[in-house]
Amino acid sequence: MKPPEFFSATYAQARAKFLETCGSLGHKAEHHIHPERGSEGEELATDVVRIGPDDASHVLFTMSATHGVEGFCGSGAQIGAMRSGLYDNLPDGMAVVLIHAINPHGFSWLRRVTHENVDLNRNHLDHSQPYPVNAGYEELRHAICPTEWTPQAQAQAESALQAYADKHGDMARQGAISSGQYSHPEGVFFGGNATTWSARTMHNVVAKHAAGARHVGLIDYHTGLGPYGYGELISDHLLNDPGHPRLVAWLGETNVTNTDDGSSASAPLTGVNSQCVANAAPHATLSMVTPEFGTSPVDQVLGSLRADCWLHNHGDLDSEQGRAIKAEIRRCFYPDADDWKAMVWERTSDTERKMMAGLASLT
Ligand SMILES: [Zn+2]
Repeated sequence: MKPPEFFSATYAQARAKFLETCGSLGHKAEHHIHPERGSEGEELATDVVRIGPDDASHVLFTMSATHGVEGFCGSGAQIGAMRSGLYDNLPDGMAVVLIHAINPHGFSWLRRVTHENVDLNRNHLDHSQPYPVNAGYEELRHAICPTEWTPQAQAQAESALQAYADKHGDMARQGAISSGQYSHPEGVFFGGNATTWSARTMHNVVAKHAAGARHVGLIDYHTGLGPYGYGELISDHLLNDPGHPRLVAWLGETNVTNTDDGSSASAPLTGVNSQCVANAAPHATLSMVTPEFGTSPVDQVLGSLRADCWLHNHGDLDSEQGRAIKAEIRRCFYPDADDWKAMVWERTSDTERKMMAGLASLT
């Protein structure tokens, strides 16, 4: 099987390929069944497989589809890692746990969000506490999510967003849209007002498989930011957290970026997956990285999400415009081209090897 064949055309195909790979290698998968059905009427599930000893002191998690439609990338990486024998000779005391499609609903329906319209990677915070306020989103929310999606409405929204960027800078505009917001449940990058199915499932899976581990690693695969095919390795640690220098040592100083110092293509975020791991594995050292693979220019990517938000709030999925919007969001998060898949595979397999070697070096 060549690298492009590790990747799939739909969630249903990705799930079948993942489970078939597990089965052919003798790995028993556990299934966390989602309450809703997929876009083809199929069962939705987060499938988890653990490779390595039950009492491992070192556990590396890999995860796909935090942001649903981004799951094509991570699923391909996970299937490729198993099929290419990456885990055939694990270091002593190490287990790898593959979490396939943590947001299966978004994967199947080609959405970045969960079925609750929640951005899973903004949802891991204490919902009994006051939420962070995203003042930029408040100011721009009508431009970010207009009620109409005609060429005229889009042009009006675009000029409001551009005026904001002219005044505050491009990264401030990106942050206003994408940092996360907790006040508009129908909007984009909504972090939720309660724990979602996917957040709960992730917490339970990590707590179960990290119990007893002294050292825990996470590779959380994403797409949509940065140059086409380039895999930026975003540190999931603050600069003053010991996890950050560990990642730099393992993955290379020029490779690892951080939203803390503005070196990342991502704006700073709240309620992220690394917080879920920290909550679920409170006694382990943590070394967590988010590989982020570039696809299209950021304005196109954010535009595809705003269009998708409009479609699900106001539009018709079964219309010409609806189908065009779905094709665009898929293209913006999954270019579905052999050169892109090859670049993803080279970077993900390299990163997994380095993360395993780094984790194994901890005593
Ligand atoms: Zn993402």
